[in-house]
Amino acid sequence: MFAFTYAAALLSTVFTVFAAAFFIYRRSALEASLASYLLSGALWIGGNVIADISYTAPVLLAASQLAFFGGILNLFCFVLLIDILADGKRPSNPRILLYGLPALALALSGFTAYGITGMAFPVGAPAQIIPGPVYTIALFFYLAGLIYGAIRIYRKLANEEDAQLRKQLSFVFAGLLITITGQAVFDVLLPLTGELRFYTLGPVSSVFFAAGCAYAIMRHKFIDMRLIVRMLEAKVEERTREIRALQEEQRRMIVDLSHNLQTPLAILKTKVERLRKTMIHDAELVTLEQSVDTLSNFIYDLMSLANLDQALLLEERVPFSLSRLVEEIAEEVGVIAEQEGVTVRSDVARDIIVVANEKRIREAVMNLASNALKYIGTVGPREMRLTLESEETVAVLTVADTGIGIPDKDLPHIFERFYRGNARIYGAAPGTGLGLSITERIVKDHGGAIEVESEVGKGTTFTLRLPLQERS
Ligand code: ADP
Repeated sequence: MFAFTYAAALLSTVFTVFAAAFFIYRRSALEASLASYLLSGALWIGGNVIADISYTAPVLLAASQLAFFGGILNLFCFVLLIDILADGKRPSNPRILLYGLPALALALSGFTAYGITGMAFPVGAPAQIIPGPVYTIALFFYLAGLIYGAIRIYRKLANEEDAQLRKQLSFVFAGLLITITGQAVFDVLLPLTGELRFYTLGPVSSVFFAAGCAYAIMRHKFIDMRLIVRMLEAKVEERTREIRALQEEQRRMIVDLSHNLQTPLAILKTKVERLRKTMIHDAELVTLEQSVDTLSNFIYDLMSLANLDQALLLEERVPFSLSRLVEEIAEEVGVIAEQEGVTVRSDVARDIIVVANEKRIREAVMNLASNALKYIGTVGPREMRLTLESEETVAVLTVADTGIGIPDKDLPHIFERFYRGNARIYGAAPGTGLGLSITERIVKDHGGAIEVESEVGKGTTFTLRLPLQERS
């Protein structure tokens, strides 16, 4: 008969250990209240256990009072837990007081003649106490709290597809319900009837309660994780917002700066041009003009890059013939290339349609083509080749040259902003180091990809892939 009592004693010890662990490692309000819940549960069950095995009336009395006290506090913590679970945050202080004060008053009443202490020790049941009226009220409150909690949580969970959490809480509710009913029957019937067959009800119900809680604790990480995840999500969102604001501020700064530099540079350029025209030949003026040009291009590229993300979002994308665009570019580049003694060839498949912003795709291909001319070198066949074909659902465009090539060490970096590799050191070809990053951004924004293959002294091939228009 005492087996259940011992089981309950064991569980109440386990509860205390868990409670201590939660107190030590607690990170949230949920864990703090879970710890208090467990402690009060341990007090409740522990009190009952001592009452069960007590042989003298004073011990029985004190243990019953302890159990009653723990039980009421347990209800209070349970209501708090419901609040935290339902709202995802710690309840406000007035709310804690609202739940806490009546619970404390009720718990303390157990020490009076009207509470669990009861009126008298009935004849025929020497080791039992008659529960007083406050005890009956407390039982009523217990049930009311339980029903209130059940309704609140289930209402909240009904919207969330969270079968796991529902199951877990059902265990706690069921455990509590069995405990309260068992406890009530045990407490009321045993002293009244003196029938010892009601005796096991108390400890058995405590075991149910403990088992329900143990199940919930085992799954506790799950509840806690949900809260932590929610908290982290909110934090990440806040950080992202801050980073976006910072990025926007930087972007605006670059745009303002570039904008303010543009006008004085334009004036400088006009003045230098005028001076150069009036002088017969002045090498220094030519260098100055080149420097002004480089600076203007740099500012232009910087501004387009700073505005690119926003522009790409707003600009419209419609189906157009990439075949036509590539042929046009080959022709335009061909004219300039001819003057520099470079041969431009093209091999363009017909009717390749993409959905994109034509102006931006032109800009991207033009960047690749002008690089091919810029880095064509002075020896060898000096050829550039544009090809376009389709592969399943993508258009594949290549811009290949027989130029100076890119060293292996530079290849992973050429799409980075301002990276110019050797071009920067030798200053042979003017540039800003921004062209390829603009190109890559445009291509990626259109759902495409860009790759490069190169061999020093042999040449470079850029391959650009863009999704084809879907056939209806
Ligand atoms: P820029 O040409 O203004 O320097 P880009 O971003 O267009 O800037 O290119 C970055 C670097 O990649 C260049 O400085 C150059 O070193 C290298 N590069 C790009 N295209 C070629 C090419 N076709 N042949 C050789 N090197 C190239």
